[in-house]
Amino acid sequence: METYSVLGVKCSSLTMEEALQILEGFLSEERPHLVVTVGPEMVMRAQENEEFKALVNGADLVVPDGAGILWAGRQCGIKFPERVAGVELIVRFAQRLGRLQAPLFLLGAAPGIAEKAGENLQKQIDNLPLAGVNDGYFQDPQPIVEKIAASQAKVLYVGLGSPAQERWVRQHGAAAGIRVGIGVGGSFDVLSGAKKRAPRWMIQLHLEWLYRFLCEPSRFGRILAIPKFMLRVMRAGSQAVKPWNE
Ligand code: UDP
Repeated sequence: METYSVLGVKCSSLTMEEALQILEGFLSEERPHLVVTVGPEMVMRAQENEEFKALVNGADLVVPDGAGILWAGRQCGIKFPERVAGVELIVRFAQRLGRLQAPLFLLGAAPGIAEKAGENLQKQIDNLPLAGVNDGYFQDPQPIVEKIAASQAKVLYVGLGSPAQERWVRQHGAAAGIRVGIGVGGSFDVLSGAKKRAPRWMIQLHLEWLYRFLCEPSRFGRILAIPKFMLRVMRAGSQAVKPWNE
């Protein structure tokens, strides 16, 4: 697996299958591993937020979640074999957790949403070891750390938005006893059915951003991050995506 800097943000070039293998490997190491799925919007957020940039660059695995990252690679002659989309990754990894019997905890989103997302995952996946859920609107993290530790969860999907979710895994992952913590953004809203993913044809035409905008025009500011990212890549030329040097 090759790892690159995309405008200074770490991202590995790998397939969905390879990412799943790596996550499985993390389960056998007794420490929390932070996993980030990075798209153009997050690369742009990292340009303005040093803490977020450090969290992503210090993650154990960063996967390319977004056609824009693949496009940026192509501008620099670097091939990212496919998009490793966050929502898809967490469903596929949950399928393996059933087989491995590694308990999963869902943390984040509005009350009731993670619960519904968990139920929907359980409907799709036989024997999913769902250890517990908690919404993402809390003041004191301590009771939640204890709840996760008591649940014996080995994997945490955390959807609090960035950088809160990545910070959460780093600050509390060890005390919570998890081995893999994946930042999932708004994925529980999608998995619960509260928000729909774009139709397949739109995803294939790389128009998922347009669908999101049409559903939630208030996201306009965030969608602007995509053309800003593209401009920045073009300006940086062949240096936009280059081998990652630790
Ligand atoms: N959220 C949360 N607690 C908070 C703020 C946000 O659980 O204090 C949830 C929110 O309900 C949503 C997710 O975090 O499910 C953020 O999704 P978004 O797509 O905005 O994530 P981002 O792209 O900012 O990482």
